[in-house]
Amino acid sequence: LPPLGSNAPLGRLDEESFSRYAGATRFQQLPISQKTKDGLRQSKYIKMTDVQRASLPHALCGRDVIGASKTGSGKTLSFIIPVLEKLYRERWGTEDGVGSIIMSPTRELCGQLFDVLKSVGKHHNFSAGLLIGGGEDIDTEKEHVNDLNILVCTPRRLLQHMNETLNFDCSQLQVLVLDEADRILDNKFQTDLNAIISQLPKCRQTLLFSATQTKSIQDITRLSLKDPEYVSVHDKS
Ligand code: ADP
Ligand code: MG
Repeated sequence: LPPLGSNAPLGRLDEESFSRYAGATRFQQLPISQKTKDGLRQSKYIKMTDVQRASLPHALCGRDVIGASKTGSGKTLSFIIPVLEKLYRERWGTEDGVGSIIMSPTRELCGQLFDVLKSVGKHHNFSAGLLIGGGEDIDTEKEHVNDLNILVCTPRRLLQHMNETLNFDCSQLQVLVLDEADRILDNKFQTDLNAIISQLPKCRQTLLFSATQTKSIQDITRLSLKDPEYVSVHDKS
């Protein structure tokens, strides 16, 4: 038999390294790139929060994760870091196109995610774009959207590009993230989300994070999650 992990596809840690990192408390202990470590340190992120400790070892292994923890508990880094690391390990470059889509329900939330991505990912060479409608001119956006590696977007704006932008291509998508997933899976976005999902490749990593593990979150067949890891962090009282 080959040694454990020797056939693991690029970007996937084996079970042995997973258990070594499951007890880590600081970002610097994680098996992540120096570029991400430097971005984290310069952004003043040192110790992991509970949801980060519980989810990052799984997400960095390439697993699908459904994470629930209250507002303000640090869910953003629980998916920004795995996105950066997956594309880094795949040696993703400008010409590879869209490698990750991060969706959040409102423009404001997307803007906040984008700021964290820029700060923590500043030593990486990926191109990232904020696609949220509003002020930005869709025609200008259409000219650049195919050069972006990471999209931070509202469902509506993403769908608009899927429908209208010539040659818009997500066929190589590696990681899909739904932030505030309970809200995105809610009825309001249902039609948009179904249309989006139908155009994404099924072979990908999917990370869902929200404040609650609601019924709609469990409606995961639509998202073709593969044996997802459920991570719930509750207040200790
Ligand atoms: P959530 O999405 O769960 O509501 P956020 O990811 O927006 O939480 O984080 C909430 C706040 O906590 C932000 O101000 C963020 O900068 C801060 N934060 C997140 N993770 C850490 C950490 N590991 N160390 C210090 N501050 C953190
Ligand atoms: Mg959040």
